[in-house]
Amino acid sequence: MNSGLDIRERPSPNHDARGDVVAGTPRIDMLVLHYTGMQSGAAALDRLCDPAAKVSAHYVVEEDGAVWRLVPEERRAWHAGVSHWLGESGLNLVSIGVEIVNPGHEWGYRPFPEPQMTSVEALCRDIQARRRIPAHRVVGHSDIAPTRKSDPGELFDWPRLARAGIGLWPPPAPELRSRRGRGVGVVERAAALSDLARIGYQVEPGNEAPALTAFQRRYRPERWDGRLDGETAGRLAEVRQAVEAVQAAEEAAKRDRFRGYQRRVN
Ligand SMILES: [Zn+2]
Repeated sequence: MNSGLDIRERPSPNHDARGDVVAGTPRIDMLVLHYTGMQSGAAALDRLCDPAAKVSAHYVVEEDGAVWRLVPEERRAWHAGVSHWLGESGLNLVSIGVEIVNPGHEWGYRPFPEPQMTSVEALCRDIQARRRIPAHRVVGHSDIAPTRKSDPGELFDWPRLARAGIGLWPPPAPELRSRRGRGVGVVERAAALSDLARIGYQVEPGNEAPALTAFQRRYRPERWDGRLDGETAGRLAEVRQAVEAVQAAEEAAKRDRFRGYQRRVN
């Protein structure tokens, strides 16, 4: 660890192997952020370490900025549950889970304090750099389980993390706001839902509204009603373009690494 963070150990028994270890190093290329949704940090830590609860995370960040390691990154923690992203399911297998202490919508949702965000930023930056996690694979729990989850929620400061190089949050074009109240036509609706899927959300008949709500909590947090208004459609196009730019850069970097490899072996 190179983050300058003082990480405390609080081992949880709730973890298992990351799939097929015979095949070599397990793939870890996703970062999932949560809020704990319990009345206190101590209660959350107890639950995440309780064998009967069968839940855990790799890290917990308290409101005062203290960071706990519960599960080694090489092991699979049990934080995401039934989850989908970019056509892949069961994302505990490939992700690192970070629980951020906050009472959540059930117990009095409140802003994440500065010392906590400083630690979240340092921890995520370190994980993302070590694991080479692509920006579009840094997600909230609600992004990958929108029908069940709403964490870390609309108060979480994604723009701040993006400014620090963590995850994806393209600044919205100012003119989009004027389209907030406006509905969209059939063609624009189809394009918007296609953008939603292209970004990574699972879009199926019947779950469009929860998926749109999750998208809005993250990228248009002023209103998350699950309605596809003109502003949301425009925002979807912006984020989809940002995802495509990241993927194109990834492909180019992969090609460069391969050429470097070829030069070394030839
Ligand atoms: Zn969660």
